Amino acid sequence: MTVTRFAPSPTGYLHIGGLRTALFSYLWAKHNDGKFVLRIEDTDRSRNNEDATRAIIKAFDWIGLAHDGEITYQSQRDEIYKKYIDQLLDEGKAYRCYMSCQELDSLRETQMSNKERTRYDGRYRDFEGTPPEGVEPVIRIKAPLSGTIRVKDGIKGEIVFNVEDILDDFIIARSDGAPTYNFVVAIDDALMGINSVIRGDDHLSNTPKQIIVYEALGFDIPEFYHVPMIHNENGKKLSKRDGATDVMMYKEMGYLPKALLNFLVRLGWSHGDQEIFSFEEMLALFNPKDINKSASIYNTEKLDWLNAHYIKNTPNDTLVKLLQEYDLVLSSHDKKEILLDVIKERSKTLVEMVTQIKEILDTPTQYDTKAVNKAFKGEAKAILEDFKARLMTAEALHLPSDYHHLVETVVTEREIGFGKIGQPLRVALVGKMGGPGIDSIMAIIGKEETLSRIDNALENI
Ligand code: GLU
Repeated sequence: MTVTRFAPSPTGYLHIGGLRTALFSYLWAKHNDGKFVLRIEDTDRSRNNEDATRAIIKAFDWIGLAHDGEITYQSQRDEIYKKYIDQLLDEGKAYRCYMSCQELDSLRETQMSNKERTRYDGRYRDFEGTPPEGVEPVIRIKAPLSGTIRVKDGIKGEIVFNVEDILDDFIIARSDGAPTYNFVVAIDDALMGINSVIRGDDHLSNTPKQIIVYEALGFDIPEFYHVPMIHNENGKKLSKRDGATDVMMYKEMGYLPKALLNFLVRLGWSHGDQEIFSFEEMLALFNPKDINKSASIYNTEKLDWLNAHYIKNTPNDTLVKLLQEYDLVLSSHDKKEILLDVIKERSKTLVEMVTQIKEILDTPTQYDTKAVNKAFKGEAKAILEDFKARLMTAEALHLPSDYHHLVETVVTEREIGFGKIGQPLRVALVGKMGGPGIDSIMAIIGKEETLSRIDNALENI
């Protein structure tokens, strides 16, 4: 059974790149009817905090990716890590190193002045003498001294690391007993049965160290998929300056989880030239082997385009619920169907929807000067008066087409172009140019409100 995991370090919020790795991991597990688990890597107590963990879980809830089983917290697993440290010490695969900070510093300086790679020199590897007093030892693992470490990567192919270029006997437990990052990641992945590790390729340099831990403990090595980073349009790693990196900001900006997931699945993965994927299609088609070898480019227009697509295809009753989270309550509005049908065709985000809806529902309190100058020329007021008189006596006005019909009678009888009534009417209704068709606007706000807005305009313009 395929078991994948997402293993964020809670240092802030859920990063958009992290969500992409989580999505890939989720899809691959579920594609194979496997499990997707969540592990919070909160061993570095100085940097981690509970708020950050909560923020990550909240973002997961919003996006709707469910993890299997309980969340694993590394901070609660000290006993487990300690057991494996002791095991390695007993088996002679790890050892205590009593080097002081000063000794380490001076070793580093010598290596730097000799233009050598800075590395631990193994001086306690086979130490059998009496340990120096007053130094709490760290625990180091016995790494191979030469040869190569091969990482079989499902995306990048085989990557060969030369031991002498990258490794030394690295620390697996600090002098206060705290286990180190690469050690606990390997142990947890093994104990949690993770057999496909999908993560950002910024972790690639950790993988040889983790392989050494797997081998020392006799664990099976999982399949690795190191996913290339997301870049901005200038080819640099995506950063806050390029837009939102916090997943919850996407909610705030009015993106739908479905659109964001569709956007993310296409960042680095493709299936022919298909752009729109339902979640079911993603599940059926995703394979990490098809992830691109090179970085993907973040493109806001693409996200907007996808979001517009998903908004358009969201049923109105769902939109009513979603918009409520943006403080727009439409549940009791009798023309909400017409309103949403019109607005969802024209909006890239839910936030845009709210703005556009308010522009219709809120009586204008001022009129755009440019629009007024353009629309209120010549006979404009007389035409509006005429329309108003017809509107007052008209009955059974419900649909946009009913209002359209009324506008048309004015156009025909006065032998004027549509704009001659359309423009001043629009300014009277919403205070400016632009927006959906005036017949829809009138059907949405209704006869009384239309009359009152026309009166306001006639008085105030
Ligand atoms: N905790 C790491 C991070 O947040 C991920 C570790 C991993 O996927 O192996 O970057």
